Amino acid sequence: MKRPRIVILGAGFAGFQAARTLSRTYGDAVEVVLVNPTDFAVYLPLLPEVAAGIVDPRHISVSITATLPGVRLVLGTVTGLDPKTATVEYIDPEARPGTLGYDRLIVAVGSVTKVLPIEGATRHSHGFKGIPEALYLRDHMIRQVELAAVADDPAERAARLTFVVVGAGYSGTEVAAAGQLLTRALIRRNPLLRGERARWLLLQLGDHVLPEMRPRMRATAERVLTRRGVEVRLGTSINRAASEGVTLTDGEFVGARTVVWTTGVRPDPVVDGFGLPTAAGGRVAVDEYMAVRDHPGIYAAGDVAAVPDLTRPGQITPMTGQHATRQGKVVARNVAASLGLHGRARPYRHRNLGFVVDLGGWKAAADPLGVPLSGVLAKAVTRGYHLWSIPANRPRILTDWVLDAVLPRLSVQLGLVRSGAVPLDTADPELPYDHSPASVTTL
Ligand SMILES: Cc1cc2nc3c(=O)[nH]c(=O)nc-3n(C[C@H](O)[C@H](O)[C@H](O)COP(=O)(O)OP(=O)(O)OC[C@H]3O[C@@H](n4cnc5c(N)ncnc54)[C@H](O)[C@@H]3O)c2cc1C
Repeated sequence: MKRPRIVILGAGFAGFQAARTLSRTYGDAVEVVLVNPTDFAVYLPLLPEVAAGIVDPRHISVSITATLPGVRLVLGTVTGLDPKTATVEYIDPEARPGTLGYDRLIVAVGSVTKVLPIEGATRHSHGFKGIPEALYLRDHMIRQVELAAVADDPAERAARLTFVVVGAGYSGTEVAAAGQLLTRALIRRNPLLRGERARWLLLQLGDHVLPEMRPRMRATAERVLTRRGVEVRLGTSINRAASEGVTLTDGEFVGARTVVWTTGVRPDPVVDGFGLPTAAGGRVAVDEYMAVRDHPGIYAAGDVAAVPDLTRPGQITPMTGQHATRQGKVVARNVAASLGLHGRARPYRHRNLGFVVDLGGWKAAADPLGVPLSGVLAKAVTRGYHLWSIPANRPRILTDWVLDAVLPRLSVQLGLVRSGAVPLDTADPELPYDHSPASVTTL
């Protein structure tokens, strides 16, 4: 008998867990197909350590074929959904379109960097949402320090040694923390820069860094960063970005060659064309079972889904890896239940277990189960949590950390940055589309 096909769109935290749960528990009864542009899932929380040159990018890339042997991986980017015929359209890495039929669909395509309509922001700032962007940023930072060393003009030298991070959520805060330590090490090692220091600005429009976290964690992060010399500017963002610097919302011009854009994320825009109901900020509207309203057989989970937060009535779950991972497991069981393979569907309910924020060096802020920690203890908890959470490559990551503790940081560029500017979307070029019917693959 033909097994029902469950198609999962996206191999992030939610999609990966859904595929793993389905293939491990119900693999004999269902065909699990995972559509993702790459053959790996990225463990995003360690991205700042990749940008800082601490962790090898391959080590935060979890091989889908090695870790999910029972799952059929379709390399591709989904471009459309037709609920009437129960098919999705995708483009493979060689720009060939294909279609895929499903009995059940889980939409888990995650989120993308939210770009605000600020003059020059897209062109002159770096995004920070994937491995290419982290590697570009690392190359760019190293190159700025090297160019500063040979700049005769003091203003140019100062601008090359000035780094502006816009947005102080966990990615912005961690990038500022890790980046500042990297540039400090690079400057110390360069005799031409004796007496110089990098200037780092962390801009946050609200009243605190890490707005989504508890006050003790925010205070720890602000204290650690400020003591290190990072200028934390609250109530401030930028009005304009240009090749020579940024104009802050208070009117000050800051000469800088590096602007990192981390003001938040929005659901992947591909779902705008799916015709599914949406809620807050364009996330796919689902019920507490993660089923899409009025669309039998279609579910959504993770950053892309507006899942009701039953622990905070009236609100939806925040876009975090912690929720996406658990939603992936629950949605898998609910899909299995809809096929008669597993009891009854159960609602998604998860109380936040705390956050961890790596502040570079031996510092971190963490509040596991609500217990506020800082310093080395928080660092140990933070690293332990990441090792526990990543589904593969643990010994490799541990080795990276040990080597970084005992050896000087490698400071050569990879040669990825060739132009003077690195626009927000450089690392994510649009795929060329070929819609000619002759090249359509139907699975
Ligand atoms: C730098 C950084 C640090 C973070 N740190 C933390 C942290 O410490 N703790 C925490 O809880 N959260 C953290 N987060 C947030 C967390 O990573 C996200 O909430 C989580 O990744 C969401 O999981 P997801 O499965 O919904 O989406 P994602 O993990 O974004 O995965 C989406 C997947 O879908 C794929 N995809 C996208 N479009 C398509 C398409 N059209 N077709 C097919 N596939 C597609 C993508 O390639 C990707 O594989 C961090 C995020 C960043 C960027």
